[in-house]
Amino acid sequence: MRSNNASVARELAAIGRRFYARGWVQGTSGNFSAVMSREPLRLAITASSVHKGQLRDAHILEIDDDAQIVGTRTRAPSAEARLHVEIVRRRNAGGVLHTHSIWGTILSGAWPHRDVLDIDGFEMLKGLSGVRTHAHIEHIPIIENDQDMARLAEVVGDTLDRNPDAHAFLLRRHGLYTWGDTLADAERHVEILEFLFEAIGRGATFRPEGGEREVDYGAIENS
Ligand SMILES: [Zn+2]
Repeated sequence: MRSNNASVARELAAIGRRFYARGWVQGTSGNFSAVMSREPLRLAITASSVHKGQLRDAHILEIDDDAQIVGTRTRAPSAEARLHVEIVRRRNAGGVLHTHSIWGTILSGAWPHRDVLDIDGFEMLKGLSGVRTHAHIEHIPIIENDQDMARLAEVVGDTLDRNPDAHAFLLRRHGLYTWGDTLADAERHVEILEFLFEAIGRGATFRPEGGEREVDYGAIENS
C-alpha cells in the first residue's frame, strides 16, 4: 500500500471494526474496497482470511482491474475481489462493502425460487442515494451463490446491467453487496439496508399482544 493511500487503508480498517461490532462481519467474513485511482484502475481491498474485528491498515492491499495484487505480494486479496472490480466498473462506485449478517442471510434464502427482494414503505429507504420518499420500491436482486468467482463476477455484471437502479444485491444465504459514490455513501447504504433487513425479518414474526395479526411487513407478506 503506497503511503499516500494510508488514509484509505485506515478508513477501511475502521469500517471493519465498526461492522464487526454490529455483528455484520463475524470472524473473517465480509470484505471492503475503495477506489484509489480510475486510470489505471486501482482498488484498496481487504486481504483474505483476516478477522474483521482485528482489521488493521497492514491488512489492506492494492489490486488492479484484473483483481491482481499490485506491488509486493505479502498476502492474498479477498477471494471475492473480482466482484468488487465488477461493481466499480459497472456502477462507477468509489467504495464497495460486503457483509454477512444474520438478517441478510435469512432474507436472501427465505424464498428459494425468488430472485428479488422488494422493500417499500419504510422511511429508512430515504437513506439510499437519490431516494426521496418512503413510497420508493427498492428491488434488491438475489443472485445464486457460487464459489467460481470468475463465473459469479459475470452474473453480477449482467445483474447490475439489468437492474440499473439497484443500490445493492444479495448473494443467496451468503450476504449483502452494496456500494456508493464514496466510501461514506457505501457505509450508509450498509447501515440502511441492514436496518431494513432486520426490520422486515423481525416484523414478519412479531405479533404484539392484542395487535392485529395481518400487519403488512412488506416483502414477506407480499411474497
Ligand atoms: Zn462473502
